[in-house]
Amino acid sequence: MSSSSAWSIWGERGRKVALRTAKAVSRSFSQAPCPSQTAQEVAGKVRTLEGVAHQAGRQAGEALAAGARHGKGGGGGKGGGGGGGERFFRNPWFTTMAAAGGLAAAAYNLDPESVVRYMDNRRPAKRPEHEIFDERGYPKNPVPLREEQVRRLREEEEFDLLIVGGGATGTGMAVDAATRGLKTAMVEANDFASGTSSRSTKLAHGGVRYLEKAVKNFDYSQLHLVFEALSERKRLLNNAPHLSRSLPIMTPCYHWWEVPYYWAGMKAYDTLAGSQGLTWSRYMTPSEAQRQFPTLRTENVHEGTLKGSIVYYDGQFNDARLCLLLACTAAEEGAAVANYTEVVDLLKDEETGKIRGARVRDKMTNRTFEVRAKQVVNACGPFSDSVRKMSDPKARSLVAPSSGVHITLPDYYSVEGFGMIVPKTRDGRVVFLLPWEGHTIAGTTDSESEITFSPRPSEKDIKFILEAIEDYLCVKVRREDVSSAWSGIRPLISNPHSENTSELVRDHLIMTDKNGLVTICGGKWTTYRLMAEQGVDQAVKTGNLKPPEKCQTNELRVVGGDGYHIALHTEVAQDYTVPHRPGAIDTRVAKHLTSAYGDRAKVVTRIAEDKKLGQRLARGHPQIEAEVAYAARYEYCTGVEDFLTRRTRLAFLDVRAAEQALPRVVEIMAKELKWGWFKKRKELHQGKELLKTFANGTT
Ligand SMILES: Cc1cc2nc3c(=O)[nH]c(=O)nc-3n(C[C@H](O)[C@H](O)[C@H](O)COP(=O)(O)OP(=O)(O)OC[C@H]3O[C@@H](n4cnc5c(N)ncnc54)[C@H](O)[C@@H]3O)c2cc1C
Repeated sequence: MSSSSAWSIWGERGRKVALRTAKAVSRSFSQAPCPSQTAQEVAGKVRTLEGVAHQAGRQAGEALAAGARHGKGGGGGKGGGGGGGERFFRNPWFTTMAAAGGLAAAAYNLDPESVVRYMDNRRPAKRPEHEIFDERGYPKNPVPLREEQVRRLREEEEFDLLIVGGGATGTGMAVDAATRGLKTAMVEANDFASGTSSRSTKLAHGGVRYLEKAVKNFDYSQLHLVFEALSERKRLLNNAPHLSRSLPIMTPCYHWWEVPYYWAGMKAYDTLAGSQGLTWSRYMTPSEAQRQFPTLRTENVHEGTLKGSIVYYDGQFNDARLCLLLACTAAEEGAAVANYTEVVDLLKDEETGKIRGARVRDKMTNRTFEVRAKQVVNACGPFSDSVRKMSDPKARSLVAPSSGVHITLPDYYSVEGFGMIVPKTRDGRVVFLLPWEGHTIAGTTDSESEITFSPRPSEKDIKFILEAIEDYLCVKVRREDVSSAWSGIRPLISNPHSENTSELVRDHLIMTDKNGLVTICGGKWTTYRLMAEQGVDQAVKTGNLKPPEKCQTNELRVVGGDGYHIALHTEVAQDYTVPHRPGAIDTRVAKHLTSAYGDRAKVVTRIAEDKKLGQRLARGHPQIEAEVAYAARYEYCTGVEDFLTRRTRLAFLDVRAAEQALPRVVEIMAKELKWGWFKKRKELHQGKELLKTFANGTT
């Protein structure tokens, strides 16, 4: 028997083994009861798995046969080498090892995303549709109105827990505490996510940079943080499936040494993620990299010729909407949450000196009242020190603020569904170029800043980002293409136990002051759930609280996630019974609605039908009029700023489009919230002023 045919037989055997394994796995999946999936869906998944196995087997076969062909050719050339190959082949130990190696190599090139997605979708919905919607298609138990929430804050005798700050950390804690059965209150000085939590890069990531540092410094604790973040990344994607997705990100390599360096790094990243991984990283040849990312430069002026690209996967999500929907989830679970309620002072028990509540100002009515609680938690991100200093003016400052700027560019700067990371700009910083909401976002910078509620991007920062991406793109990078720009403040934390105030803690910090105030700060969006769990644990301990339940958030879906599936937009489009006309609900609008509202997208289209609010708000953008009414009714939207920046992301995407939408948004919101002429004028003016803070991005 020739060696090449023998190799082919082994390849064929490999294919059969892989196929048998996949069938067994898919059978076990299909036997698991799964109310949220139809039989056809399960059958489809079985077919996918079988297809994957066929592909694996075929690739293994091809790889092995190619190896044999190579060996044969070499043998012919050297004379006698072929005999060596056969001797090698007759040894069962070597052949088994070679077959296993071939299968592993093939598996490395597989895209197991379909399998991962399938496993995610297997989890039954928390509640069936008929429990969420009434017969008209509106929410059965909508979140209580803001006025009702403020009344509760004012009148409730005592809460178990009062959380100050409604960013990722505060809303995450409110969900955690409420689902443990604690009587929970949360107050936010402005709108939910109006701080750093709407201004991030929107990546759910383990931090490839931290991994590099961990390996270089042999730092196990740093490695552990990456490991934790990778697990949380997967949870975020599972628990907010409509607001997030997994995104391939390429690292272009212009030096040969970079290929094995980044390849090994990304494989370590995959390995660390283990079963919580998304899709395996892989090497792409220069031509494939260019095919996948047509705007990628093959000749970099400073670096040389493209040698290939390493592609790895991370999560991407809609940060402000996740924060908002966490606040809504907490409200659904019984928490009293209110935006535009600012803590102006902390209340102390005169006997013990312990903090037992806060004085809160309702910014909508300008009334001040007291909220009493057994335990108070300060989750104010960059503003944490100002709250700590309310009770102890001498408290040592913890936050070392650092600002990060992003810009928005047209979609053609990137490719839908493919991001790029520049691991080292000319001055050693990292810059991302990511597709997001039909546009491209690029950032971020890292510079010292002051702590302010409305940080603005500087022209210098915008120029830096444009210059950094210019080296890597063949598209002409132009200042006038920047449609929006924004800045956010990182709440980095200096080590409270160190003499040196410039020594930063690596991740988040949870600390309890002498007066019993628990402060939780730092970390990143990706780990908000874990931070919230640890923060509530600490509050329970310090406040001696007795929650009836343990932490429930590992598998808790946020509002809209229950009935979400990847083809939901087709149902939404078909449900809309108004005959198609220009501006009515088309695929792009339906996809936008399902990715922003999940299963609640059907409520938006119901409003669009009932109130004739199906038109788009701005040319070229999928946001429709009905979203304004929906936001005012069900999402604690109090004005145009909330709507343009955080209920939809228009201001972050395109300032001119937001300006165009502004008058219509005011009109619809005025009807919903019963505004008079004066309030309408004020909102219009405030809207224009707000857009100026993003308009540094437009020339
Ligand atoms: C540029 C940049 C990019 C980032 N990119 C990523 C990323 O891609 N992935 C990732 O995982 N992380 C990222 N992060 C980190 C992440 O965004 C933050 O860690 C997270 O948003 C912090 O949330 P927070 O709730 O602690 O703070 P904030 O979101 O700032 O929330 C604090 C809230 O407290 C409120 N508040 C202040 N004072 C009071 C008061 N007196 N009374 C009531 N409320 C008050 C504020 O109004 C604010 O809303 C990024 C950060 C920056 C700056």
